[in-house]
Amino acid sequence: MNQHSLPAAIPNWINGEECAAISGKTFDKLSPDTGRKLCDVARSGSQDIQNAILTARRAQAAWADLTPVQRGDQLYEIVRIMRTYQKEIAATVALETGMSYSAALGETGGAIAQGEFAAGEGRRFYGRTSTSAVPNKYAMTVRQPLGVAGLIIAANTPIANVAWKVFPALICGNSTVLKAAEDTPATAWLFGKIAQEAGLAPGVLNIVQGYGQEAGAPLVAHQNVDVISFTGSAAVGRQIASIAGQRLAKVSLELGGKNPLVVCDDADLEPAVKWVLLSAFSNAGQRCASGSRIIIFDAVYDQFRAMLIEGTRKLRVGPGDGDDFGPVINEKQLNNMLAAIQAAQQKGAVVLTGGCRLTDDAHAKGFYLAPTIIENAAPDDEFSTSELFGPITSLYRVKDFAEALKLSNDSPYGLTACIHTRSIHRATEYTRKVQAGVAVVNAGTFGSEPHMPFGGLKQSGNGSREPGTEALDVYSDLKNILFNIDPDKL
Ligand code: NAD
Repeated sequence: MNQHSLPAAIPNWINGEECAAISGKTFDKLSPDTGRKLCDVARSGSQDIQNAILTARRAQAAWADLTPVQRGDQLYEIVRIMRTYQKEIAATVALETGMSYSAALGETGGAIAQGEFAAGEGRRFYGRTSTSAVPNKYAMTVRQPLGVAGLIIAANTPIANVAWKVFPALICGNSTVLKAAEDTPATAWLFGKIAQEAGLAPGVLNIVQGYGQEAGAPLVAHQNVDVISFTGSAAVGRQIASIAGQRLAKVSLELGGKNPLVVCDDADLEPAVKWVLLSAFSNAGQRCASGSRIIIFDAVYDQFRAMLIEGTRKLRVGPGDGDDFGPVINEKQLNNMLAAIQAAQQKGAVVLTGGCRLTDDAHAKGFYLAPTIIENAAPDDEFSTSELFGPITSLYRVKDFAEALKLSNDSPYGLTACIHTRSIHRATEYTRKVQAGVAVVNAGTFGSEPHMPFGGLKQSGNGSREPGTEALDVYSDLKNILFNIDPDKL
């Protein structure tokens, strides 16, 4: 798909109709690969959000009145149409993120699998029955919808992020207002078009475009939004928790990570290098699960560092299918990364490779950072403790397993973690004791699938898990139902 396939202006979807922001305002969406403008985007404000919420509220009861199986059937129809549009979705994702088409196609496949899984939950919407101490009393616990779900997402994997939230929220009987990420408006808009084509009732899924403060914040603050599900940075997550907390709204936060990958002295170093390269640099490091702290045993440190630098220098950076990763999402993020590298260097950190913007002809106009490896950053320095969300990783030397585990856990985040070792004992100890929501042995710092719970401890979240069946706990509440089956007997 080329630039002409995107609409010139990306509108909102409210009540099944495309509409511009009430103010008529728009903002520019730029290509991360070329820096050129791709399209205008509706710059929604609180009145647009209010309209979307009221529309969702009106549509919710009829949606919730469908049986979960009927709702699942409607989600299957969305999935079916996503399959027919799979190439167009992938091309849109590639165009607006700068990732390769093949990576975008893989992500789209994941989003479809997520939809399929959530749709199937319509036939497994299990509750439970319980016993009672009282004769003639029957008791059962069922799930009930919450009402209107406000969904706010990041730009890094746009169609996956939409699918992770919209499908579980809908299967539970909620109507939804999705605030698309400002850097990936077109993918969310296209999903709205697909849902429309699938015959989803107007108002059940509303998609609003705009900036966080202007379009996201009013969604969080609105009394008529029953659950806020947010994927993004810890800084914004904290603000959302505090604002939603004022009105005691339910909140699910999927936040950042500073994920450790430990390379032990008994690790197979060649595969470990490959997994570090994938963990640190795939999707230009713009994954909450990226491997940003590589913790290496002293005995293999020098050898591993040399192998890793060699592997990193061979990486191809660009938007094509033959490239290993593409640009970062916008110039502001790129400049933040460069500033963080510079600040670390001033405090004694050393850039082993990369550390700069790519300025050759093929990359100069895009938002490209060379794959970057840093060493000698102090473990407690800001560089080691804050998320950079780019193709940057940092090496740490440790003497043994105990020190590796301690350093892994010595972080404000607790999202994912990985260890490379041949020892079953070390693997077991590490996965048992590392403070993370996902722990991996001999692979990358990522690897979750639609039926698996994903989320983290500490500042990586607030205890919820999406997707998996655990996502049903985010988007529904429980109701305990009691029957006196023989009313004549007191
Ligand atoms: P961000 O927090 O800046 O923005 C995320 C979303 O929140 C955007 O849609 C933005 O418009 C909106 N937003 C911003 N300010 C807001 C406010 N005050 N009120 C309401 N909404 C607001 O994050 P980002 O830089 O776009 O995304 C990267 C972050 O997302 C990283 O921290 C990454 O780790 C995290 N992430 C987490 C997961 C996960 O599952 N844990 C997955 C992907 C990304």
